Amino acid sequence: MPILKATHKQTKEHNRNLVLKTIFGAEAISRAEIARVTSLTRPTVSEVMTNLLAEGLVEEVGHGVSIGGKSPILLSLVKDSRYMISLNLGHEEFSGGVVNLRGEIKSKVCLPVSGRDGKQALDLVYEIIDRIIEMDWKPIIGIGVGTPGLVNTREGIVVNAVNLDWQNLPLAQFLKDRYQLPVQIMNDSQAAAIGEYVYGGGYTIGENLVVINVKQGIGAGIVINSRVFQGDGGGAGEIGHVVVKEDGLVCRCGKHGCLETVASARGMVEQAKRLANQYPLSELAKDPERITLESVHSALLTGDPLAQKVVCDAGHYLGAAIAGLLSTLNIQKFILTGDMTQLGQPWLDAICEKVAQGTLAKLAEGTSIMISGLGSENIILGASALMLMDGYSLLFMQPPIL
Ligand SMILES: [Zn+2]
Repeated sequence: MPILKATHKQTKEHNRNLVLKTIFGAEAISRAEIARVTSLTRPTVSEVMTNLLAEGLVEEVGHGVSIGGKSPILLSLVKDSRYMISLNLGHEEFSGGVVNLRGEIKSKVCLPVSGRDGKQALDLVYEIIDRIIEMDWKPIIGIGVGTPGLVNTREGIVVNAVNLDWQNLPLAQFLKDRYQLPVQIMNDSQAAAIGEYVYGGGYTIGENLVVINVKQGIGAGIVINSRVFQGDGGGAGEIGHVVVKEDGLVCRCGKHGCLETVASARGMVEQAKRLANQYPLSELAKDPERITLESVHSALLTGDPLAQKVVCDAGHYLGAAIAGLLSTLNIQKFILTGDMTQLGQPWLDAICEKVAQGTLAKLAEGTSIMISGLGSENIILGASALMLMDGYSLLFMQPPIL
């Protein structure tokens, strides 16, 4: 009876995943506790545990406190028993990391993009992974990639990444063929959202979160009920190309006045250059062509009026976009990540001011908007977390369930 066999196999897999998740969610836990938490029988837990111990995924780490009778043996996940290769294809730099089962980045390779796109950008991806594989971390269970642009995660295709000049690129298949490993790819803002959710701390099962990634482009990653919401075409959170200024500057997508043209790092720097002649006393006005995000940041720290103006404007535009998301989704936690976060409190204040103005008071009241504590590592961590969810079902079981 093949159908019954399949069911038995599925049950075994389900039990294994449940036990693994429970161990992942605790520092150390006894078999009895696992049985209690999962509602599996003691013999089932013991059987699963025997297999996990044999695979080296779990180890015995001592004894717990006895509540009558023998003190129980505690078990723990062996965090370095598996590794993942995880990539962040940033605008100026591609980086790759080796990440263990607890989200610790063991080693990193970063290479400048230097304007490379198309096939050359793909070669750069290969070069990073080749270098990591040479480091000989073992065993590697898969490759996760956070890439800019529109991504079909299910098919493993980069549908459109303007900066990299990739259209319908079957990136996952290319990497699978070359490295013979499972591969997961995802939009970078969506990967950042997973990274924040899993490793940013403080999230519990079922919680929602929006991560806004603001650098040369702008994207959002939306986590609903512990899962990234990708929408029908994978493009949920692509807020950077919503037109917010009809007569605005031309965007890299070809339209005019997209959010990116006014609220991204690129847009803000462009704005500073255009307004420089109206602010002759500004430090930035001395050499407008050399204005960068970093120079705007430095000027901001000295109270420079042009820096204040462009940071405030960029924050206001982003705040209006967040107000829209907040009103649509009523999600109460927003995390800001990306290069623009270096602008700190003045930028955050401008954002929050506009959010408060742009939404119902009751919606804004219960909402927190914060700058990420993980920084750009959240993309590498999120891309690696994809592997854990896919192959090991390890994530989203949090400690307080005991
Ligand atoms: Zn655009």
